[in-house]
Order: sequence, then structure tokens, then C-alpha cells
Amino acid sequence: NRQNVIAVQAFPYGDNRKLILTQDITELERTDSMRRDFVANVSHELKTPLTVLSGFLETMRELPLSEADRNRYLDIMAQQGARMQIIVNELLVLAKLEGDAKPPVEQMLDIKTVLRQLHDDAQGLSAGKHTIEMHVDPALTVIGAESELMSALGNLVSNAIRYTPEGGKICIRWRDAGEAAVFSVTDTGIGIPPEHIPRLTERFYRVDRSRSRDTGGTGLGLAIVKHVLQRHDTVLQVKSEEGRGSEFSVKFPAARTVRNQAIATSVNT
Ligand code: ADP
Repeated sequence: NRQNVIAVQAFPYGDNRKLILTQDITELERTDSMRRDFVANVSHELKTPLTVLSGFLETMRELPLSEADRNRYLDIMAQQGARMQIIVNELLVLAKLEGDAKPPVEQMLDIKTVLRQLHDDAQGLSAGKHTIEMHVDPALTVIGAESELMSALGNLVSNAIRYTPEGGKICIRWRDAGEAAVFSVTDTGIGIPPEHIPRLTERFYRVDRSRSRDTGGTGLGLAIVKHVLQRHDTVLQVKSEEGRGSEFSVKFPAARTVRNQAIATSVNT
């Protein structure tokens, strides 16, 4: 690691020994370059919709337009405005998650209800274009912040749908793996080439930018998922094969899980 000298002080020993205060700059430089990349990425992401918006605004001001064209332009402008709003909202969510070390509220999740909700949302998003299966073993539940976990797990489910062509299959599972509880979503979608997998949770990282954008993506979803999971002492695991499908899974550690049997017993006694 490289060191940066921040102060040199003479020792009062009468000889010429000196006290040299140094600082490790490798880490500082890394943080600094990440910050620069982030600012560049945010600017780039907002620039595209902003350019479209102001372009159409200008056209509308300068050209006489038919009613139909005017409505079409307004629709496009509204879409771009909504897109910017989504990006900014997701950035705010991310900033908030990064600022807080621990989830705000810890509760025992009602697993059956949570998964039922995820399944219903999946069906809504798929609009009948996919087969959606769900297998839930409610023996274990997890302790955490319900709304954060719902949005993180929901994000994995919505990605599975967005990256799976019509006719594909999505399977949502909650299983008991001994001490740990495992949530997983498997899809028969487009899959991910192996070299991209380690970078998926970086902000704005996308395998295929235009495909992501066409389905309403911002490239921030998995960055949010990563933070939520970190706050729940776990990490995202990804297995994928290009052209065949993917599996995104989360293993909640024993310290975060409670056996439903134990809940029933403690309530009864
Ligand atoms: P996005 O809004 O672009 O979907 P995410 O952060 O949720 O952003 O995901 C990052 C990228 O990971 C996506 O752009 C996509 O390339 C890839 N990805 C995520 N989930 C899947 C999946 N189930 N199948 C294939 N690719 C996926």
C-alpha cells in the first residue's frame, strides 16, 4: 500500500531523528475514484431523459403541431419525467440504506403472507406471460425489517420476470435448510454470462443496457438488494447460465431465523 506523508516532526533528542506521520492512501484513492465514477454515472443516467425532455419541449415551442403529435410528444415527455423520478427515488433509497447501519425495525416475518404477496405481485407483473410456481416450507421464519426485505425479495422476483421471455417459468421458494432459511428465485430466462456475475450489485451495472431500460430498469435494483441483505447479515448468491436461466438466492443465517414450532410453543405456554 502506498503511504502519504502528512507530517514530519523533529524529535527533541538532539540527534536528527524525525517522527514521520503517514496515511495509507490506497484506500482513500479507491473511495475517491468510486465517488467520481458514481457522480459520472448519475449524471449520465439523468442526462439521457433530460435531453429527450428538453428536445421535445423545444420542438413543441417552435413548431405548429397537430393535436395527435402534441399528445404523442406529451406522452414521451411524461415517460421521461417518470423515469427520472424513479432514478432519483432509488438513489434516495440507496443513500438512506447506506447511512443507516441496522434495519429500523426488527420483526418476525409472517412468511406465508410475505410469500403470498410476492407471488401475487409476480402474477401482476407477468400478466399471464409466464408460469409462476411457489414452494413454501413455513417451518422457519426470519427476523428483520419486513418492508425492506419485501422490497429486496420482490426485486429479485421482478427481475426474474423481466429477464425471462414469454412462456418461461419462474419458481419462488422458501425452504428450511437445517439452521438457515433459504429464499430463492429461479427463472428460465436469458441468463447472465459468468464474467458479469461479480459486478451485478454495483450501482448502474447492467449486462445489457437497452434491455434493462426497455423493461423499466435503472441498474440500481440489485445495489439496493445488496444493502438490504447486508443489514440482515447475509449476501446474495447468483448462479446463472447464459441462454438457460438464473437462480438468485439468499440464505438467512441461524441467528436471524426462528423455528415456527418454537413460536407456537412459546405462545401456548
Ligand atoms: P435493472 O434495473 O437493470 O434490472 P438490477 O440492478 O436489478 O438492474 O440488475 C442488474 C443487471 O443484472 C440487469 O440489468 C440484468 O442485466 C442482470 N439481471 C438481474 N436479474 C437477472 C435475471 N433474473 N436474469 C438475467 N439477468 C438479470
